[in-house]
Amino acid sequence: MVRTRLTPSSTFIQELRSMPGGELLEKCLACGVCDASCSVASGTDYNPRQIMQKILVGAREPVLQSEQLWLCKICNLCENTCQYGVKLADVFRIVRHLAIQERKIPAAFQKAAKTILSDGWLMKEAYSDFVSDERKELGLSSRLSQNKRYTNDVKSKYFDNGG
Ligand code: SF4
Ligand code: SF4
Repeated sequence: MVRTRLTPSSTFIQELRSMPGGELLEKCLACGVCDASCSVASGTDYNPRQIMQKILVGAREPVLQSEQLWLCKICNLCENTCQYGVKLADVFRIVRHLAIQERKIPAAFQKAAKTILSDGWLMKEAYSDFVSDERKELGLSSRLSQNKRYTNDVKSKYFDNGG
């Protein structure tokens, strides 16, 4: 396993702290209670405490390029259990925003987003004749519609210029 050396830096923390939702991030003690309350962490490798630890040591690039960052579903469950008032979901949302701005979205998530933007959903191949027949039986159109204008706006804003 390749280990990334983390370089302590306060500039990343200052950057995040200046944005709404990031104000209390330094209060994190990396206690791991959020891991225990997180529905995504249960049974997966996802570990919100680990992401917070990397943020706290200023590992800007590893965090911005982390796939883990994109697994948080922003459900805010962990905020109810964090004794230190850290708004984890807000912190992750800010970092994701930076990753988008700097075009550092991991390839797997870019691919998923592009698929949704082009097909209207992620599992086009799973839309078999069986599902189509089921929809017809229920009186639903077999064609799934999408808001083309919205998806084109998102596509041109985040993905068309080398993202
Ligand atoms: S965010 Fe809160 S619960 Fe999670 S590790 Fe930090 S202090 Fe603990
Ligand atoms: S907001 Fe993210 S880290 Fe917190 S419980 Fe939900 S999925 Fe887990």
